Amino acid sequence: MRHDVIIVGGSFAGLSAALQLARTRRKVLVIDLGLRRNRFAAHSNGFLGQDGKAPGRIIEDARAQVLAYPNVTFVEGEAVSATGTNDHFSVELADGSLHHGRRLILATGVADILPDVPGLSDRWGDSVFMCPYCDGYELNEAPVGVLATGEHSMHQALLLTEWGQTTFFLNNAFTLDTEQFAALVARGVTIETTPVRAIEGERTDVHLADGRVISVAGLFTAGRMVMASPLAEQLGCAFEDGPLGAWVKTDDMRATSIPGVYAAGDNVRLTGNVAFSVSDGAMAAAASHRSLVFEPAKAA
Ligand SMILES: Cc1cc2nc3c(=O)[nH]c(=O)nc-3n(C[C@H](O)[C@H](O)[C@H](O)COP(=O)(O)OP(=O)(O)OC[C@H]3O[C@@H](n4cnc5c(N)ncnc54)[C@H](O)[C@@H]3O)c2cc1C
Repeated sequence: MRHDVIIVGGSFAGLSAALQLARTRRKVLVIDLGLRRNRFAAHSNGFLGQDGKAPGRIIEDARAQVLAYPNVTFVEGEAVSATGTNDHFSVELADGSLHHGRRLILATGVADILPDVPGLSDRWGDSVFMCPYCDGYELNEAPVGVLATGEHSMHQALLLTEWGQTTFFLNNAFTLDTEQFAALVARGVTIETTPVRAIEGERTDVHLADGRVISVAGLFTAGRMVMASPLAEQLGCAFEDGPLGAWVKTDDMRATSIPGVYAAGDNVRLTGNVAFSVSDGAMAAAASHRSLVFEPAKAA
């Protein structure tokens, strides 16, 4: 069967796209591997109407609502390749099955490459975080830390002072210039130049190379972000480069540089969250649907 739209990725962005498309009565296929970016976190904060809920629960409810529409099919699995052109795309899954669709929406998200500090990845989503808007409030204005991964971490260190007394662990990631030093001092940030040896303890005890230990309620860091799937690259989509990694270039309607291919969610922006992803998904759905209506199908 040829689907009108194949959505790869069935999390916040993908299911949001699927819901809009379901309501057009078009034939939609969602393919999902089930590896959401926030699967390490017990709570998802800051999304209207769902604040504080378990992220898996939000997805479960959303999937049930989407699959109540008879024109939506859901397949669990990994899409390993995507080929073709507008109106004639094929997506192959790891089990060898082949699916055909007129439009594609890539809602495949990103994967985080965390700093290589012992004990850090074990605490990811629990007391080590990336986004203060998601996790800062629950730290109740207690002392927080920022672990630098490069000059871009200046932004995080200056911002975090909104949530608590901030220690900036430079960890040899970069050297502060006079202006940066002054900016941090002006925001009341404590600057720690001794490298970090490990994160230990029940929550977040930052052990330094000289034996000192600085306890913080939460540690924020910006790891590198890589595409969770190579499909956009395979299809030849253009990318934009940022300090943490590249993302798929899209226009305001979430169309990529390849006709018929749309992208939505964390894979189209420098920093993402659930609300942005849901918005992207809805936009990509509307745009792909309009193109089905207003652009006549081309022969293969
Ligand atoms: C620790 C942590 C905590 C967070 N907390 C919050 C929070 O409290 N509030 C908030 O708003 N945001 C939070 N975020 C950010 C949030 O997780 C992301 O913004 C959101 O998950 C992005 O949604 P998405 O649909 O774009 O991608 P994802 O949720 O990452 O979903 C992508 C989906 O695509 C699937 N996929 C990828 N490749 C393939 C393939 N080839 N074939 C099939 N399926 C594929 C994946 O398995 C996954 O199911 C947090 C992130 C982290 C890391």
